[in-house]
Amino acid sequence: MPGPRVVPFYGDNDLPERVDVVVIGGGIIGVSTALELAEQGIRVALCEKGQIGHEQSSRNWGWVRISRRDPREIALMAEALKIWQTLDSRIAADTGYTQSGIVFACHDDQQVEKYQQWLQWVKEFPVSSTMLDEGQFRQKFPAANMTVRGALYTPEDGRAEPQKVAPAIAEAARRNGAYILTECAVRGIETSAGRVSSVITERGEIACQSVVLAGGAWSSLFTARHDLRLPQLKVINSVLRTAPLSEGPTETLWCQGFALRKRQDGGYTVASGHENIADIVPDSFRYARDFLPALRNDWRSLRFRVGGRFIDEARLDRHWQMDRASPFEYCRVLDPRPSYAMADGAFRQLQQHLPSFRQAKIAQYWAGCIDVVPDAVPVISAVDSKPGFYIATGFSGHGFGIGPAAGRLMADLVLGRQPIVDPHAFRFSRFSDGSKIEVFSGV
Ligand SMILES: Cc1cc2nc3c(=O)[nH]c(=O)nc-3n(C[C@H](O)[C@H](O)[C@H](O)COP(=O)(O)OP(=O)(O)OC[C@H]3O[C@@H](n4cnc5c(N)ncnc54)[C@H](O)[C@@H]3O)c2cc1C
Repeated sequence: MPGPRVVPFYGDNDLPERVDVVVIGGGIIGVSTALELAEQGIRVALCEKGQIGHEQSSRNWGWVRISRRDPREIALMAEALKIWQTLDSRIAADTGYTQSGIVFACHDDQQVEKYQQWLQWVKEFPVSSTMLDEGQFRQKFPAANMTVRGALYTPEDGRAEPQKVAPAIAEAARRNGAYILTECAVRGIETSAGRVSSVITERGEIACQSVVLAGGAWSSLFTARHDLRLPQLKVINSVLRTAPLSEGPTETLWCQGFALRKRQDGGYTVASGHENIADIVPDSFRYARDFLPALRNDWRSLRFRVGGRFIDEARLDRHWQMDRASPFEYCRVLDPRPSYAMADGAFRQLQQHLPSFRQAKIAQYWAGCIDVVPDAVPVISAVDSKPGFYIATGFSGHGFGIGPAAGRLMADLVLGRQPIVDPHAFRFSRFSDGSKIEVFSGV
């Protein structure tokens, strides 16, 4: 696999006959949910079609941030920041988490104004986000060769190592009694008397009372098989990492042309947050109306492309039989080809603005398929029409940082206990009950 090197995880051999909850998907959301449930003594089986953390959860930039979040996510992200602080000791592992602060540079006054407004949303939370003026920005990045109008700085934000986190949490879930099954695609759900009664996997059936779908970019296809409409699309972001570099900032930095984060190995993960590829596929037409408001807001960051993916996805069977191989078995890992032009473009901008990177050597490129929903707010919810079925997906490019708290919230909903935050904004039904889909354009 040309993607980043993920810490290996060896799945269990034996399929349990019966558990309480089956979790579909071994990304950060699935493993965090499994850990939360297993810690409560719930019998859990997590089924992953490929390997733990090989899709988005290992390909992301590793930013753990509350800054710039949609207000609907802030309370959950504040909980996530608390969880990250003790996660390593809780799971007895090194995820590389460190509270290193994140800076979003502003290149015009309009941006400064927007961030100043955004600060109102975090007032009641224990974070000290603040606006830096140009002088304060210079103190943080003395070598920076750029003019800024100001910057949003959140010292409580952090970073962690995406290639380590999902396998480490999965291992902890297993120590707490969860079955972790890799190369074990779930083909679908069976119901009995209107309730979830089992899942059919490629390795056999597992009886259960509840199913949590944490299938990342595959979730919409899975729900379509069960006649549930989940508007979800994919965009591709290209990333590179450098070899270790002795001089460079410890804070994570976002600028107009590049975004960078220091890695535990001493190198940097670099990409552009302003350039993504959106392949035109049949879902682009299927969900076009749902995504119109988002498109109006964010079209500048998207480069539309017509290519082979249209044919590949048009050929996908959306109503497969449970006794035949499902589409999930034909693609164990979504591994899109990176755009070298986009990643190199970000790297050139970085070298221009932070001269210490002129010595940096590029060590690797990769890309990831970001799953997005129309309002860019995740679904963490029960499915009202299918008792026992839950969905945690649609994290829209920022699910890594919030992942541990999303797992906690999902477990709360499955267990019927007091939710860690109000889950209303995350309900699945908002896409079908006539609710107005609001896109946050405040940053
Ligand atoms: C390039 C890039 C940069 C990003 N940067 C950041 C960042 O800095 N900070 C941040 O917070 N977020 C970031 N994100 C977003 C973040 O990575 C995702 O939101 C998060 O990883 C989503 O986790 P997940 O568990 O929902 O999905 P995934 O990690 O994609 O996992 C879903 C898993 O489900 C499995 N699966 C699907 N269907 C089935 C099935 N039927 N049976 C069994 N298994 C199945 C898949 O194989 C996959 O492993 C970034 C994403 C990308 C791609």
